[in-house]
Amino acid sequence: MSEHENNHQVIEDATYSTETHLIYGQSQDPRWDYSHHLLPPISASATFRLDSAQRGAQGFTEFAHSSDGVTVKSKAPIYIYDRLGEPNKDMLEENLAYAEHGEIAVSFASGMAAISAVLGALTGSGSEVLAHRTLYGCTYSLLTNWYPRLKIGVQFADFSNPTEVKRKITKHTRVLYMESPVNPTLRLVDLKAIAQIAAEVNVRRSPEEKLYTVVDSTFATPFCQRPITLGIDFVVHSLTKAIGGFGTDIGGVVIGPKWSYDMLMLYRKDFGGVLSAKSAWPVLVQGLPSLGVRMRQMQETAMKVAEFLTRRPEIECVHYPGLPTFNQAELARRQMVDYDGNFAPGAMIYFTMKGSTAHDALARAERFINDIATNAYCITLAVSLGNIRTLIEHPGSMTHSAIPPDEQVAKGLDPGGIRLAIGLEKPEDIITDLRRSMDRTRS
Ligand SMILES: *Cc1c(COP(=O)(O)O)cnc(C)c1O
Repeated sequence: MSEHENNHQVIEDATYSTETHLIYGQSQDPRWDYSHHLLPPISASATFRLDSAQRGAQGFTEFAHSSDGVTVKSKAPIYIYDRLGEPNKDMLEENLAYAEHGEIAVSFASGMAAISAVLGALTGSGSEVLAHRTLYGCTYSLLTNWYPRLKIGVQFADFSNPTEVKRKITKHTRVLYMESPVNPTLRLVDLKAIAQIAAEVNVRRSPEEKLYTVVDSTFATPFCQRPITLGIDFVVHSLTKAIGGFGTDIGGVVIGPKWSYDMLMLYRKDFGGVLSAKSAWPVLVQGLPSLGVRMRQMQETAMKVAEFLTRRPEIECVHYPGLPTFNQAELARRQMVDYDGNFAPGAMIYFTMKGSTAHDALARAERFINDIATNAYCITLAVSLGNIRTLIEHPGSMTHSAIPPDEQVAKGLDPGGIRLAIGLEKPEDIITDLRRSMDRTRS
């Protein structure tokens, strides 16, 4: 066995834990000539020097032809131009695929670029997407504002009700699309049950008409659940959130089966939503390696904060998958587990405030959030999540404002609902800020 092949076994060596592999990846690898560096340097070259016209031609021939038996892994890649691929992204993609227990990963400029790429690659005019009724606002906007123009049909269903999903699948449906936990309500979708529905439908379908399942697993991160191991075909993430972890860069990724690699790479090359190497680098050397330790700490804090919230008289309802009172507690325990098999309910909390009317609840939520924005030291009013700083926001008027107010209620969004994304502060400090603002805005 050559040294080259030997090195490729590193990430598969089960002697070492997943979390340690996320720090080292393939470690020293002859594909990258960085053997002097502890960390790979930022790849900052838009184009690449080619030794000969033949080598250039070979690079173009090989690009997105991995399924012709030429696996990218088997030799040093020929880099041509950053939009086609470069070392930082390749290293990151390898580690992201590994983190999700998927076969391949392709990175994109943002979470939305990743979502539009996987959906764009799997659909065409005349086909349909069946999506869960509650979705991240921009995904909802993509499906409802842009897909009609492309003559791609969009239907919605309550994915926590598998019978409804089954009923709404038509012969044109190509994608079942969902988030779990759902942004922002934290409702869970039984991913195994949805994957089974797709498998049953596919028994009667030709390969060209296959139905695929796609999960936006951003809220969970690969640390808290791995949908592909439950039978899901594709996972998408916004790298901007907990995987990036420090809030410095925007990025996204699609993780899926090997056969989809060429298609996704071609899509990225031609639609152009390529992740900058300078944004891939912090995810590679800082975000992903520290994902486990951050998530473990953040979810321990989330549990304490959720418990605090359940005790406050002004709170109507607290949604956190870690709480024993969570209405899908059994599913949460089954589906959300870390790499060691421990329950991993994540670091997102959604809660609603009491009010005599819906309008009153909304007014109280706004007063409370504005007090946090003005007075809190370690909670910031800002969208995004999975950051080392705790962030609070009001989905009804911010992240989910693309959904019309009357439809928000029908989609399970409470007008007075508040989303809290726990960071790395001490739990007591987050609780201090929450308590002070609640006390001040009580009346
Ligand atoms: C933020 C987010 C996205 C979009 O990601 P960007 O990197 O901002 O494009 C998609 N889905 C979920 C669940 C998100 O929270």
